Formats: sequence, structure tokens, C-alpha cells
Amino acid sequence: MNATEPPRPNVTAPGERPTQDPGVRVLNPKNRVPLSLIIDDSTCLVNLAHFCIPQFAEVFPDRYRQDWRALPREIPDSFVREFGEWCHENGVKGKYSIVPYPACVGWVDREMPGWSKEALDESLNLVRTLMTPDWDIHPEMISHTWVIDTRTGRPYPERTSRFMENWDWTAGRSVDEMADYLSYALRLLHNVGLPCEGITTPGGFGNQALPELAQGTLQACRAVYQAEIPHYFRHLYTDDRSVSPRVEYASGLAGSSPECVVSIIGCTGDWFGGWDGLTPGSVDQFITADLQCGRLPEVIARSEPAILVCHWPGIYFNGEKVGFHIFQEVVRRLRARYDNLIWMKLSEIARYWAARELTGIERRGQAIHLQAPFGTPNFTLETTGPAASVTLVSGGAPQPLRQVQKPLDLAAGTWLQLDGKCVACFDLIRGESVLQVS
Ligand SMILES: [Zn+2]
Repeated sequence: MNATEPPRPNVTAPGERPTQDPGVRVLNPKNRVPLSLIIDDSTCLVNLAHFCIPQFAEVFPDRYRQDWRALPREIPDSFVREFGEWCHENGVKGKYSIVPYPACVGWVDREMPGWSKEALDESLNLVRTLMTPDWDIHPEMISHTWVIDTRTGRPYPERTSRFMENWDWTAGRSVDEMADYLSYALRLLHNVGLPCEGITTPGGFGNQALPELAQGTLQACRAVYQAEIPHYFRHLYTDDRSVSPRVEYASGLAGSSPECVVSIIGCTGDWFGGWDGLTPGSVDQFITADLQCGRLPEVIARSEPAILVCHWPGIYFNGEKVGFHIFQEVVRRLRARYDNLIWMKLSEIARYWAARELTGIERRGQAIHLQAPFGTPNFTLETTGPAASVTLVSGGAPQPLRQVQKPLDLAAGTWLQLDGKCVACFDLIRGESVLQVS
């Protein structure tokens, strides 16, 4: 490289986009605002905070002075069960990390020194049975601390931020190098039968190589899991920037093997209990007691997905469950104020946004022709002008949609007259569909 050559821009590309008729608008699923909870730094049994702090402190002795010895080494499965059951009863969904080689303590697919093999197997089984119905499982790279040499499975000997997953290692990596590293992490989860369609970046992982991160995610999730729509969590914004998911590197939309990767964006900081389980947060930052202010009402008012971000050690808070109690109150306040929210997994949000942005929409008289490279449940369209009947033709016989009167009754297979417009909701299949509006 010569000195005058400009650096590669560190921005991702959207890729292809189809033509979409300006008179037809894709709304949120069921015309509701998606919610989701991102849980970082979780794994089986190991309290990542206890084990990672001394490793971070080796590189940054001034910044990691927490008394890690005072933190429990375990976050018990009894708490996973309590949390998972409460979330299920309350309809909460989101993403739950399983760091596969947490802080180099042990391998989820082999041995977790400090715990019996039986305890590890039971812990994995709890994730499979209790968590996976409501939560996407992500690796948060391999160790969340030292970078692993994927040829040997050992951490590199150099003890600097260049060889920590959280800091500088990804700078200058190629797409192939990134895909190799992510694939390694994904295979460990695959070995223990956990489903996976996306990845979470530990700390600053990928920040200096955003295009390579996105494309590496696409390659790795496709290669290891044959995921149709890979997604990743890298960004969170708490300012005025949009937090709508970004559909990136879309290609082959007209062919038989369309591709894209979706960047899911968080809209809050960890205002629960912090990554170390030592920093109590506050409910009011999410939504105030009078239900009027806070970050969530702000994002919900924009109709963008409100995706909350927390860390598992802060939810457990060393047994005091401070983060969990904050989350429970957030859910209670949201329910007190809103009836138009819909909890979704990140993979469901990614799928919806891929369909929303990549479906070709063409109006020919009373027929709206849809060309969808990806299908999704609860696809919701708004068209100008009133209607008397709406019929969906996709694959088999035409199916008339049922008219409903109230926005809350909108579900797949129904339509609604709303402010002089027609809003129709249906399960969009991959390929061609026609919506007849008359
Ligand atoms: Zn993390």
C-alpha cells in the first residue's frame, strides 16, 4: 500500500433494492411496534464478569479495577429458569448469548472445568428447552476475551489489545478471516445442537472492519447453519439516529439464491445492572413512572423497533437480581401505557425487515404484485384509497382476507379500513403473490 492511498471506507453497503410502488407502504408487522431484549455476556454456568475482568485488567490495568474475586463465579441455572419462565409468561422475546469458550474457562461442547459434565449437560439442555422457543442464540465470539488461533484452538501468546476480541484484533481483517473466526464460534454451538442465525460482537469486535464483519457474518451463518437471513448485533444508538434494522449486502434478488445480512440495532444502553453486575441502572431511563418519558416512548413514537440491551451478569447482579427487577418493572410500565407492541426474536425482526425492504411491489390496476426473495409472517401493507374486499393469491386458490374493525384485531389473513386507507396483513411466501384490492 502506498502512503497516499486513501483508507478503505469503514461503511457497509445496502446492496440491491427492488422497485416498490410509492402508493403501497409496508408497515410494521400487524401494524405494531416490535420490541426485543438483547442479552449479552450470557453462557452456561460461568459468570463471565468474574472471569473476564482479570484478563481485561492484564491489558488495561487502570480501567478494570473491579474486585472480581467478590463476584460469584457462577450464574446458576435456577436463575436462568426463573428468568426464562417469567419472560415466557409475559411474552418477552429476544436474544441470549452463549459464549462458547467463556473467558477461556472451558468449552461448552467439551468440558467446563469447575463444574461436572452432568451440570454442563443440564445447563445446555435448559437453554435448548426453555430458552430457544423465545430467544435467538448467538455466539458472542469464541472467548469474549483472548483471541483464539483457529488453527490450534489456543489463545495467541501476545497479551495486548490487538489479541483481545473486544478491542483491535478485527482491524484490517479480510472477509475470509472474519468468516473463519465467526464460523469457528458457530461450530461450537452447532456441536451442542443449539440453533443459530446470527452473532453478537463482544465489546468493540468488528468496529474497525464493519464491511468485513457484515459479509463475514453472512458467509459464516450460511456455511455453518444454512441460515437463510443471517443477522448480527454490533450497534446501539441512544441519540436521534434511526434504530431501524439495516438490510445489507442484498444480492441475487431475482434469482433462486437471494442473499442479505441484517444489522440489528439496539436503542438503549445497559440501564439494568451493567456488564459487571456492579452498576445498578434505573427504570426511568427506559420509561418514567408517569409513562410519558424515557428512551422507549421516544423510539416507540417513531414506530421503530425498540430493542433493549442488557448484560446477563447485571440481570443476575450477584444474586440480588437488580437488573431483572428493573426489567420486570419496564415490562409492567410498557404494558400499562401501550397495547400495540409485539415482542419478537431478533431473527424474526431480521426476516421481517428483509421482506419489507427486498420485496418488489408493483401495482397494476387493482392488483398489487409482490415478488418476495424472502417470506415472512404477518406482512402488513397499506394502500391508498378505501376498499370493499381484499383477496390474496399466492400459490394455491385465492384466499379472501377477512375484514376486521379494530386495529388490535389485525392479524395474518385480515384487513382493516384505517384513516381512509386499506391495511392488509398476511403471511408472505417466498416468490410471487398478488393482492387484489377492490
Ligand atoms: Zn459482551
